[in-house]
Amino acid sequence: MSVAALSFPFSSSSYSSSNFRNSKSFKLPNATSQQLSLDSSPPNKTPSSSQPFKKTGAIVVGAGLAGLAAATRLQSENIPFLLLEASDAVGGRVRTDFVDGFTLDRGFQIFITAYPEARKLLDYDSLNLQRFYSGAKVFYDGRFHTVADPLRHFSDALQSLTNPIGTVIDKLLVALTRIRVLSQSDYDILTADEVKTIDLLRRTGFSDSILDRFFRSFFGGIFFDRELETTSRLFDFVFKCLALGENTLPKNGISAIPEQLAGKWNPSSILLNSRVVSIDSESQDGVIVKLENGELLRSDLGVILAIEEFEAVKILAGKPGPGLVKMPVRSTVCLYFSVDSNRVPVNDPVLFLNGSGRGIVNNMFFATNVAPSYAPPGKALVSVSLIGLYDSVPDEELVERVMKELTDWFGEAAVRSWSYLRMYRIGFGLPNQCPPTNLMKNPRVKPGLYICGDYVTSATFDGALVSGRRAVEALLKDRATVKV
Ligand SMILES: Cc1cc2nc3c(=O)[nH]c(=O)nc-3n(C[C@H](O)[C@H](O)[C@H](O)COP(=O)(O)OP(=O)(O)OC[C@H]3O[C@@H](n4cnc5c(N)ncnc54)[C@H](O)[C@@H]3O)c2cc1C
Repeated sequence: MSVAALSFPFSSSSYSSSNFRNSKSFKLPNATSQQLSLDSSPPNKTPSSSQPFKKTGAIVVGAGLAGLAAATRLQSENIPFLLLEASDAVGGRVRTDFVDGFTLDRGFQIFITAYPEARKLLDYDSLNLQRFYSGAKVFYDGRFHTVADPLRHFSDALQSLTNPIGTVIDKLLVALTRIRVLSQSDYDILTADEVKTIDLLRRTGFSDSILDRFFRSFFGGIFFDRELETTSRLFDFVFKCLALGENTLPKNGISAIPEQLAGKWNPSSILLNSRVVSIDSESQDGVIVKLENGELLRSDLGVILAIEEFEAVKILAGKPGPGLVKMPVRSTVCLYFSVDSNRVPVNDPVLFLNGSGRGIVNNMFFATNVAPSYAPPGKALVSVSLIGLYDSVPDEELVERVMKELTDWFGEAAVRSWSYLRMYRIGFGLPNQCPPTNLMKNPRVKPGLYICGDYVTSATFDGALVSGRRAVEALLKDRATVKV
């Protein structure tokens, strides 16, 4: 077996543990370790351990979008696989809780229909995608100003030409940026020379007013980075997808996306509640994976680590692989409120942005204006997002501050009628993708051992899906040339 020496161009710093509180779970039909029967041969012994191990096909560790895309690709090649997931359901960061008739996505997430890999993998009709208005309402100077996509809402866009959310030249520059990104391939965008997004926008000529009133809250809300230090590659990629597609939510919650992927194969291929604690890729018997419960699994086809970068760093310690994790990782808080549907102040399926430069709310929307199925009959769901973790602020204080702030937006009578439902504090929302980045990282750690995840490509649903496919393609290439 030849082992390629590989180095990964990750930058370094330390990682502090992620924080995910107040989450309640729901479950897919679960597979237990008793159902694991990919190979009927008796358990073998590994030379490095006295414990028996079970032999499997390929092993994918982590059932987020990257792991699910890897498993989907393996399935399409008829390669048997086992997907090991530490938590109680598939989806990773893309999960939904169903609470008293409300559909609560774990953090505000939007599915852009133009994501190229997603288009290949997902059945959009079954997702029953519910569309947002193509634009936003920006709260600035005590009232709302509309920012609209001129190709979809021409008259709104025309009327908004002279509003204070940027100059007429800014609006022209938005159109030119659209032409610029649409004229490039995704590959060219993701490998182009890069700067921080804020530097790209300044260099393009955008005024401080549109930067502060629109871009910081809109793209800051996508990157969880109001400073807009995220790479211009990611900005261009997302801008292009926004120009080509629509912002949507699946009718049954954002978790319908991973569930659709996982629903395509036999549930016994997925082991939930199965945390991998170590990997031995030096064994002559193939790659040996050790679970938290002590169980050993052996793969002679290869192991794909589809876990967060900080987890991969831990598991691959001492092997070539991801470097230390770039800080700060991107965090967010999402608060949900319920309100009687006849007391919702607006009916538009529109995103509201904070362009005031004050306060802690970054964006909010009435989720039921986009997807009525997100609340039980007679009720509406309000979703409010903050950037950062606010970990020193107790929940009650955060709720109070958010409600007080939104009173300025919608009036006291409206906001007083909201009932607080739940808060998600998401310490690890996204990896830090400030320059320098490599959004085309090599998935191969060595033949038989691969990595994927949004940190390997772009920190988006699409990036995670692409990375899973690429990891399997690397595995297939190695299988064609070398016996692992
Ligand atoms: C609040 C929020 C909003 C977002 N909004 C958007 C959006 O609007 N649009 C967009 O494109 N992207 C969005 N993203 C980003 C997107 O969700 C991620 O880029 C993508 O889901 C990452 O998928 P992944 O498979 O790489 O990682 P993850 O989803 O993190 O999956 C990793 C999986 O590995 C499992 N795991 C970890 N360690 C182990 C172990 N030792 N053993 C077994 N299993 C393990 C974890 O439990 C997890 O299930 C958002 C993210 C968040 C958090």
